[in-house]
Amino acid sequence: MPCNKDLIRSLQKNGRITTPKVAEAMDQIDRGIFVPEGESPYMDYPVPIGYNATISAPHMHAICLELLKDHLQPGNHVLDVGAGTGYLTAIFALMVGESGRSVGVEHIPELTAKAIENVQKSKAACLLDTGSLSLQTGDGREGFPEHAPYDAIHVGAAAPSIPVALIDQLKPGGRMVIPVGQLFQDLIVLDKDSKGDVKKSEYTSVRYVPLTDRQSQLGKAS
Ligand code: SAH
Repeated sequence: MPCNKDLIRSLQKNGRITTPKVAEAMDQIDRGIFVPEGESPYMDYPVPIGYNATISAPHMHAICLELLKDHLQPGNHVLDVGAGTGYLTAIFALMVGESGRSVGVEHIPELTAKAIENVQKSKAACLLDTGSLSLQTGDGREGFPEHAPYDAIHVGAAAPSIPVALIDQLKPGGRMVIPVGQLFQDLIVLDKDSKGDVKKSEYTSVRYVPLTDRQSQLGKAS
């Protein structure tokens, strides 16, 4: 049976993980805790988690961690929009440590509750107790002003356009990684310079679930 270390090794082999920093962070958090029972957690594909959501494929997590790693220093603040299972929120929390803040925002309350349960079983559990890791239910398009500004913002669902609140809550010198588009999406890397000007670049084509309102996601008429 493959294990988390096998997954990390294969992501290193195929070039998705390129630095020891990201390998070590992904090694600390066992993806098996976050993937629903009966699924294969150590294979490189997304897995449904209910409510029309998925835990993203490991290579997407690796790509986003590589893009954000310089902004995930001890003491930094990081926002994870569309936290889903809480997997990346937990990895971010270990990277920014006890003096930092990792905030996950998820709009399906049942998923937030499950994410908290998952994190409690992981190596990031102590950071949940001290409050440097938190998982909140809310509309992530509004960010989470309480702990802003953020050094790093990760968005785990595709937005039709970049929400202004998220740009506002990014610290000068900070970086946001966000999939943008509808059917065809690009992973956009947005850097804010020290003057507050933003520069965007397209990293790669991606396929994420939409960043939307709860009713649209659940397929109910509002
Ligand atoms: N990074 C997560 C991705 C989960 S899928 C993981 O790998 O586990 C994307 C998540 O975004 C879903 O859980 C979905 O419920 C959530 N989502 C979609 N629109 C949202 C919104 N407006 N606010 C907060 N969360 C949202």
